[in-house]
Order: sequence, then C-alpha cells, then structure tokens
Amino acid sequence: MTKLIIVGSKGRMGEALMRLAGQDPKLELVAGVDKGDNVLDFIDRCDVLVEFAHHSLSGDLAKIAVDRGKSMVIGTTGHTADERKAIETASRNIPIVFAPNFSVGVNLLFYLTQIAAETLGENYDQEIVEMHHRQKLDAPSGTARRLGEILARAAGGTYDELTLHGRHGDVGKRPRREIGMHALRGGDVVGDHTIHFSTIGERLELTHRASSRDTFASGALRAAQWVRSQKPGLYSMQDVLGLKQ
Ligand code: NAD
Repeated sequence: MTKLIIVGSKGRMGEALMRLAGQDPKLELVAGVDKGDNVLDFIDRCDVLVEFAHHSLSGDLAKIAVDRGKSMVIGTTGHTADERKAIETASRNIPIVFAPNFSVGVNLLFYLTQIAAETLGENYDQEIVEMHHRQKLDAPSGTARRLGEILARAAGGTYDELTLHGRHGDVGKRPRREIGMHALRGGDVVGDHTIHFSTIGERLELTHRASSRDTFASGALRAAQWVRSQKPGLYSMQDVLGLKQ
C-alpha cells in the first residue's frame, strides 16, 4: 500500500488525482492539500508527495520531503532554472519522478517513434500532425515538438534544421529529410498526435489521442507507486515505464 498526499488537490489535475487515488486499492490517500492547508500536518503519515500545484512551490516541498525522508512525484510545469535546480538538489537525497507529461501512452509513443524512425530510415517521409482544442495558445504542442526532436535526432540533425511548419504556395518537391509539422485547432480536443511515415508502396501511422486529464493523473499515480522503492535520483516517466533510451 502506497500512502499519498496530493498537493494542489482542488485544481483540475488535483481533482482527477484525488478521485482516481480513492478508487485504487493499492493506494491510500492520506490527505489532499491546497492553498491554506499545511502539508506538515500530514507528511509523517505518507510515503509519497504528489504535486500538481504551482512551480514556485515545488522546491520548498522537495526540501520538506528530504527532511522527512519522503519520495516525490512532480507534475507541475513552468519551473525557472533556480526552481529546477532546487528539485535536482533534493533528488540527491530522495527519489523524485519529474515529468512534463505523465500520459503512459504519450511516453510509449515517444519510444515507438524512435524505434520506427531508426528502423525505417531516410526512405520514409516523416510528417507530424497534432490537433488541440480551440483555446490552445501555442503551436505546435510541446508533445509534437518532442516528437520532432526524436525524429530529427534519429536523422542525425536538429529540430530547427529539419522541421517545416505547414506548407503554402510554390513549395517545390519534398526534400528527403524534411520533417513536416502541422497544427490543427478546433472544438474541445484534449490532444491528438499522429506521426506519418510514408514511402513508395506503404505508410505507417502512429497515433495517440488523449480524451481526458485522467490519463495524466493515472500515469502520475503509477509513478507514485514506482518511486517509493527507488534509490535517490531524478527520474522521468520513461524510467517509470522502463523505456529509458
Ligand atoms: P489548476 O490551476 O487547476 O490547479 C492548481 C491547484 O494548485 C489549485 O487548486 C491551486 O489552489 C493549488 N495551489 C497553487 N499554489 C499552491 C500552494 N502554494 N499550496 C497549495 N496549493 C496550491 O492547474 P492544473 O490544470 O491542475 O495544473 C497544475 C499543474 O500541473 C500545472 O503546472 C500544469 O501545467 C501541470 N500539468 C502537468 C501535467 C503532466 O502530465 N505533467 C498534466 C496536466 C497539467
């Protein structure tokens, strides 16, 4: 049984984490902590602190976790270099899983994309298509960018060198090593990503579709069960899944 405290428990991710942790017989939810609560009131009863709150909080929480010998899962994004450093420093003493995307499917997609790119080689044209809801402010998505980086590395180049964003007008024939990147926007799509590998005679498409935040929450809870038996260190979701390349 892994005993958890969820920090940021009243947020969108916190709500999903609290609900899913409550349904998992291998997890015991010690407390949900949000603004106005004191984590020190509960910390001695937990094994793992799971934080999806705010980047300014992660470093201080990590210091508390070191002090009390607890493990951590950090899903919060947007840390400054100093905040990231504080997490890295804490990870010398306790195990911490720190990942910008806890979806098991997306992390497996990263791995499969690398294998596909290395196996298929340069005769297969590579195009990435992502779709997100109409409120999304940035393009391409961080996940699409990461996929582009994986393809570029397998091709022996860099993302900036090889990626072409969209096509319009008299663009000419497709260069062999180009990585096409296309961002669709509409409705309430949580996040779809497809990598197309196309050559003469066949096509391979790898697709991931997220339809709810529960996918990130269940990945983070899987990480919480994994992390408590690890040695001190900074781990990614790839480590949790045994996909480290
Ligand atoms: P949200 O704004 O809905 O929730 C954040 C919660 O944290 C709020 O309830 C807020 O009151 C609480 N909080 C803020 N400061 C706090 C403090 N000092 N002490 C205690 N509680 C505090 O945000 P969200 O959509 O749930 O996302 C939270 C974080 O998780 C963001 O950084 C987001 O980017 C990240 N996120 C990561 C993944 C992933 O897979 N790693 C997925 C989704 C979101």
